[in-house]
Amino acid sequence: MNVLFVYAHPEPKSLNGSLKDFSIKHLEDAGHVVQVSDLYAMNWKPSLDAGDTLATKTDTRFDPAKDSQHAFENGLQSEDIAREQEKLLWADTLILQFPLWWFSMPAILKGWVERVYAYGFAYGVGEHSDARWGDRYGEGTLAGKRAMLIVTAGGWESHYGPRGINGPMDHILFPIHHGILYYPGFDVLPPFVIYRTGRMDEARFSQTCDALGQRLDTLGNASPIPFRQQNAGAYAIPELVLRPEIAPDQCGFTAHVA
Ligand code: FAD
Repeated sequence: MNVLFVYAHPEPKSLNGSLKDFSIKHLEDAGHVVQVSDLYAMNWKPSLDAGDTLATKTDTRFDPAKDSQHAFENGLQSEDIAREQEKLLWADTLILQFPLWWFSMPAILKGWVERVYAYGFAYGVGEHSDARWGDRYGEGTLAGKRAMLIVTAGGWESHYGPRGINGPMDHILFPIHHGILYYPGFDVLPPFVIYRTGRMDEARFSQTCDALGQRLDTLGNASPIPFRQQNAGAYAIPELVLRPEIAPDQCGFTAHVA
């Protein structure tokens, strides 16, 4: 399969750098074709701004969504954005690897999402009316592809447990899983999370690579997180609220997982 590996860590000799090198070699040894977007090495521009469109500037104000749509529809996107979109279309599977920084992804990776996920590419796709609110949450440009996060965290696994002080890791990753990956259509596989990174040594690194290799071996057939599709009947449209008979005792993030 074709795998796009998007990686965000500034130091090649870091734990993340070693895990990235292991993953790429493991995937290639298994016969997969891998493209890597190493965002710091690429000096990726993280901020979405007026420079993202090649359209002739007018004196009208910059509109992040409308200018993105115009550039996408008219082949006027900045080349770095168009290249990453081509990689996404090429890939069967997307892997995002990053250290958890302030309970989320590093800013450079958020900036990759903001700029590459153009209007018409990742959002604003499909019919938008009172009867249908676009192709998203299980449908969209990237439907049929799979995605998985590889995340390292300094905190302990218990800190991210159901009653841990940081909140459950599933909840912390929900905006990425559901809002960034499921939204444009990806089937989202459970994440591979490495906790307590300050306690890494050679023996644990070896065990971690064994476990990660097993997860990479099942990229093509592991069951995705069963998020509910927007347009499959669970949600009232256009309110986009779960129908009363669906998970009546649940609310918040967990209600959107079947
Ligand atoms: P490194 O620091 O490179 O390495 C970690 C350990 O692994 C070191 O002991 C190193 O010697 C060892 N190691 C590295 N490579 C190998 C190898 N090949 N073999 C064996 N051992 C190796 N954590 C949270 O839990 N929640 C947060 O919200 C959070 N926010 C943060 C915000 C910022 C700005 C920063 C800087 C850190 C934050 N952290 C947080 C901690 C962060 O998640 C970890 O520091 C990070 O995940 C560690 O990954 P690394 O690649 O930088 O590890």
